[in-house]
Amino acid sequence: MAVIDLRSDTVTRPTAEMRRAMADAEVGDDVYGEDPTVNALEAAYAERVGKEAALFVPSGTMANQLALRLLTAPGTAVVTGRRQHIVLYENGAGGRNSGVQFTTVADDDGTLDPADITAAIDAAAHHQPRPSLVCVENTHMPADGAPWPLDRLRAVKHAAAGLPIHLDGARLFNAEVATGTSAADYAAQATTVMSCLSKGLCAPVGSVLAGPADVMAAAREERQRLGGGMRQAGVIAAAGLVALRTMVERLADDHRRARRLAEAVVDRWPDAGCDPARVRTNVVTWRHAHTERALDHFAAEGVLAGTIAPGVLRFVTHHDIDDDAVERACKVVAAAP
Ligand SMILES: *Cc1c(COP(=O)(O)O)cnc(C)c1O
Repeated sequence: MAVIDLRSDTVTRPTAEMRRAMADAEVGDDVYGEDPTVNALEAAYAERVGKEAALFVPSGTMANQLALRLLTAPGTAVVTGRRQHIVLYENGAGGRNSGVQFTTVADDDGTLDPADITAAIDAAAHHQPRPSLVCVENTHMPADGAPWPLDRLRAVKHAAAGLPIHLDGARLFNAEVATGTSAADYAAQATTVMSCLSKGLCAPVGSVLAGPADVMAAAREERQRLGGGMRQAGVIAAAGLVALRTMVERLADDHRRARRLAEAVVDRWPDAGCDPARVRTNVVTWRHAHTERALDHFAAEGVLAGTIAPGVLRFVTHHDIDDDAVERACKVVAAAP
C-alpha cells in the first residue's frame, strides 16, 4: 500500500498540468530580466497580493532572508513570534546574514499581541535593542496553521508605528481560503510579503517575495549576492503560474482533512493539546512524551509524521492525501502508543 506521507506539504509533486507547462515554458536569462515566464509569475503574484513588484526566489527561506537584508540594519532587532520560521527554522540565518537579533514575543495562538510590539519599541528608550522590523507568520505553522484575523493584523500594523512589517505568508493562500480574507487584504498591512509555491500549491520549487518597486529592485540585487540568480528559471516558474491559477481553491480539502485527523488525535490523546476546533488549515500538532516511539509505530503502519520541537508531533495534509488516506491514518492513530 502507498505510504501516507503527512510529514509536510513540501512533499507534493507537480501536477500533470504543471509538467506540461514546464515542458512548454518560454524561457530566457532571468538574471538579465529576460525570462518571460518568470516575469509573468512575478506579475501574477504581485497582482494577487496587491504589491507593485515581485521577485521569484529559490525558497521561502531566501525570501525571508531578503526581507531581513532589505528592511533591517545590523545590530537592530526584529520583533517576531517566538516560534516563527524566521526564528526557529532557518538555522540562525538572520544573525548570520543580516546581523539582526530577534525580540521574540508570545505567539501561542499564532498572532502577536499589539501591546507586545509597543513594549518592544518602547524598550529601545531603556537601553534595549532598537526594533527595525516586525515579522508575522500567516498561517502560523506551530499554532496548527492558524490564520490571522485581519483586524488583529491591522492592530499590529498600528502598534508598529511606521516600522516596516514583513509577512511570512509561506501558507498565505491557506489563510485566504480558511478565512475568506484575500491575500491582498492581508498583504496591505505589510511592506513585504512572501509565499511558497512549493508547499500546498504543489509547484516543485520556488517562492515569491513582493513589495514596493524600489524594495524589490534592491531585492533583485540582494538575491544575486546570495547566489539566487537562476537564469532560465521559467521552467520552474511555469509550474508556479499553474499553482497560483489552479491549486488555491482546493486547499479547502486539505483543511477539512486536517480537521478529521485532529479529531482522531484528540480521541487517542485527549490531553495532548490538540483541539480540532483550532485546526482551520492543514497543520495538526500535539504533544507526545515519546515521539520516536509514536513515529516508529506510524512508519511501521505506512504513515509518515514529523516533529517540530522536542515532544511535539505534526501531521500536514496536502494534495497527495485523499479521504481514504486520512481514514487509514486515523486508524493508525487510534492504535498508536
Ligand atoms: C516552509 C516555510 C518557510 C520556508 O520555506 P522554504 O521554501 O522551505 O525555505 C518560511 N516560513 C514558513 C512559515 C514556512 O512554513
